[in-house]
Amino acid sequence: MLNLKDPSLLCQQGYIDGQWLNADSGERTEVKNPATGETLGSIPTMGADETRRAIAAAGAAWPAWRKKSAKERAAILRKWHDLMLENADDLALIMTAEQGKPLAEAKGEIVYAASFIEWFAEEGKRIYGDTMPSPWPDRRIVVTKEPIGVCAAITPWNFPAAMITRKVGPALAAGCPMVVKPAELTPFSALALAVLAERAGMPAGVFSVVTGNARAIGAEMTGNPAVRKLTFTGSTQVGRILMEQCAPTLKKLSLELGGNAPFIVFDDADLDAAVEGALASKYRNAGQTCVCANRLYVQDGVYEAFAAKLVAAVAGLKVGNGQEPGVTQGPLIEDKAVEKVEQHIADALAKGARLLAGGKRHALGHSFFEPTVIADVTSDMLVAREETFGPLAPLFRFSTDDEVLALANDTEFGLAAYFYSRDIGRIWRIAEGLESGMVGVNSGLISNEIAPFGGVKQSGLGREGSKYGIEDYLVVKYICMGGI
Ligand code: ADP
Repeated sequence: MLNLKDPSLLCQQGYIDGQWLNADSGERTEVKNPATGETLGSIPTMGADETRRAIAAAGAAWPAWRKKSAKERAAILRKWHDLMLENADDLALIMTAEQGKPLAEAKGEIVYAASFIEWFAEEGKRIYGDTMPSPWPDRRIVVTKEPIGVCAAITPWNFPAAMITRKVGPALAAGCPMVVKPAELTPFSALALAVLAERAGMPAGVFSVVTGNARAIGAEMTGNPAVRKLTFTGSTQVGRILMEQCAPTLKKLSLELGGNAPFIVFDDADLDAAVEGALASKYRNAGQTCVCANRLYVQDGVYEAFAAKLVAAVAGLKVGNGQEPGVTQGPLIEDKAVEKVEQHIADALAKGARLLAGGKRHALGHSFFEPTVIADVTSDMLVAREETFGPLAPLFRFSTDDEVLALANDTEFGLAAYFYSRDIGRIWRIAEGLESGMVGVNSGLISNEIAPFGGVKQSGLGREGSKYGIEDYLVVKYICMGGI
C-alpha cells in the first residue's frame, strides 16, 4: 500500500524493553490516512500494565546508560540520527500517510527531527558543573549535574517525529532512559523511529514506545513513582490534567501547550516579506502547529494592501493529498478539527467579519479545508480567544503600537509572537513588550534545534532544544568536600 524502500519501517507492534510486543489484551486500534480515510494498519491498544513494564525496564536500564560516557551515548545517538536521514524518504511517506502533511513538509520534519538527536548528542558532552568559593577554610563546594532518571513523554500528532526526538534527544544524551506514548493518530512515525533506534544499537529499555489507551498509559506514567520527569506536548487542557496527576509524586514537568500567536504587520513593514512570513506561519501543516499565527493584526495604513496581497498568495496554495507533487496543504487531522475551523468562521461572520478567501470544506471532501482569509475581525470573536489550529487567517485592524501590544498580550497563552517592522526602536519596544516565550521579528519561521522553544503564561513550562533543553533532564548536586 505504501511504497516504502524498507517496508520493515512500518511496524505495528509496541516496543518495550527492546522487544516488539502486542497488547496483553490482544486489542488493537486502527490508524487511518486522513487524506483518503483508508486504514493504514493498526497498533496494539496497550494500557497501564504494559506501561508499568516499560517503566521498570527503563529503571533497570538506567544505571548502565548513565554510566556510559557522554561520548559513548553520543555515538549511539549519532548512528540513530544518520539512520533517520538515510531513511528520510520512507519516514516521510509514513508520516504523510498517517498525518496528512505534504511530503516535502514531512521530509523537512524528518531532517528537523534528526537535528535534535545530533544536537543533543553533542550537547551531552558539555554538561558542565561548577565550583564556588567556600565560606569555610577546610571545605570546598563542588556542583555537579546528574541525569534526573526515568522520563516519560506524551507527544502529539502534529509533528509525529520531531516532538519525540526533541524530548528523547536531551533525555538520552543526559543519561536518562525514556518511555514514549505517541499520539494514537500518528503512532507509525514513532515506531519507525524505534526500529531505527534498535538498529543504531540502543540498549534495551533505554527507549520504549507504548501505544494505545492515552488515559491509562498517561495515568501510569504520571502516577508511577519510578518516573522522575514527565514531558508533554499537547493541549493546555490535557497539560493541566497531567500536572495534577503528577502532583502526588512531585515529578519534574516540561509542558509545551497551546498558543494563540499574534502576527503583527506595522505600517513600515516590507509587505511582501510579511505576506511570505504569514503564509509560512499560518498555513504550514494546514495551520496545525502551536506556533501558527492565530491572530493577524495589521496597521490601518497597510490593512487593505496587506489583505489583498495575502489573498493573492493564498490563491497559490494547492490543497490535496500530501503524497501528490506540488501539494502545499494536506487535510486536517480529523473531522473534529474541521468543525472547529467552521465554528470560528461562522462565529466571526455572524459578528460582522468579511470573508476574503475560502471559508468552507474543500471539494476534495474528507477533512480537506479551503485556505481561508477573513477581514474586519474583532476581539469579541471566538478566533481572538481560541487557537483555531486550522488554515484560517483572521485579520484584525489596529492603529497604535500600545494598542496592538495590549491586544496581542490579551490572552492566557504566550508561546510564539511575530511582527514585521523596519524601525529599530519599534522592533526593540515590541519584542520586549510581547508576553511570549519566542518572538519572530521579520520572520514567520523560528523553530530549530539550536534555539530555546517554549512558552510563558499558560503555554507551558520549560524549554526544548538549545543548551537550555538539556537542563530539564538534569538535577543539580552540591558536594561539600571537607577534611581539607
Ligand atoms: P491535541 O489537541 O494535540 O490532540 P491532546 O492534548 O489531546 O492535544 O493530545 C496530545 C497527546 O496527549 C496525545 O498523545 C494524546 O493521546 C494524549 N492525551 C490526551 N488525553 C490524555 C490524558 N487524559 N492522559 C494522557 N494523555 C492524554
